[in-house]
Amino acid sequence: MSHVVLAGGVGAARYLTGAVEAFDPATVTGVVNVADDLVLHGLHVSPDLDTCTYTLAGAIDPERGWGLVDETWQAMAELGRYGGANWFSLGDRDLGTHLYRTARLHDGATLTEVTAEITAAWGLACRLLPVTDDRIETRVGLTDDREIGFQEYFVGMQHSIDITGVRFAGAEQARLSPTAIEAITGAEALVIAPSNPIVSIGPLLAVPGLQELIEARREHNVAVSPIIGGAALKGPADRMLRELGEESSVVGIARRYRNLAATLVIDEVDRELAAAVEDAGMRSIVMPTIMNQPGVAAALARACHDITTGV
Ligand code: GDP
Ligand code: CA
Repeated sequence: MSHVVLAGGVGAARYLTGAVEAFDPATVTGVVNVADDLVLHGLHVSPDLDTCTYTLAGAIDPERGWGLVDETWQAMAELGRYGGANWFSLGDRDLGTHLYRTARLHDGATLTEVTAEITAAWGLACRLLPVTDDRIETRVGLTDDREIGFQEYFVGMQHSIDITGVRFAGAEQARLSPTAIEAITGAEALVIAPSNPIVSIGPLLAVPGLQELIEARREHNVAVSPIIGGAALKGPADRMLRELGEESSVVGIARRYRNLAATLVIDEVDRELAAAVEDAGMRSIVMPTIMNQPGVAAALARACHDITTGV
């Protein structure tokens, strides 16, 4: 059996934690977004890969929801002394990851290889695969015609500004990771995690070939809605959907995902929209999807597996 998850950051990381609890971790694979990656101070930072790794390792900081627990910030303080750019905080522990990744990439290793080394060092038995070993970069268009990098929008501006569009620079030339292709093609269950549909799942689908691979097996795919009661639990997914002219609801998600998956799992608070999801072209399953209590994520993963393999 195998359980493959299209993954962004926090929502996917929580889902993956449930999947490794529910199944043999060796059968679980995350295909992870890399369009949030950035080079800072010469270091290659991969926020979604690290969020998944640290969460699965039980080492994510529970309060911040990103970075490592028991973190200290001495390197950032020293950087500030020199007037260096410290708007994107890298903790002292976290810096070790970025130093290692950067050095290995510099030596010629692929991001897939380095990620395997990092996850193994954290004791993870599941696989995290960057969707591509090439660089792709989410760029965000603003109402004043400027275009900025995703982290500048998300972290620098705290996503407090209206957007007019997003694009994934480099995606057209990027090659889908061969390991990811193999995982997806052989997947028994394929789950679109509750991640930001525009800037986490969007860039995965922008890598040539992935959307076709997913659509070809639509009947065996399931998505978990990242929108609950019309809102994102955290982050700008709801705003971004509205600003791009879509509906911030499970129905809006169904319209976006209907060619990719046959089924959409929606939260109990959206029960009254189940019929509208079906009208939009997806079968709907209603169950608890807020993965903040023990057992919820594992139950969700089991349900997703049964839905996809029962078809
Ligand atoms: P990132 O961490 O910024 O990369 O963000 P993600 O790609 O994970 O996307 C954030 C989305 O995940 C938001 O729409 C959240 O509502 C959703 N999300 C986070 N945690 C959960 C959860 O426990 N359940 C569900 N259904 N969605 C979640
Ligand atoms: Ca992200």
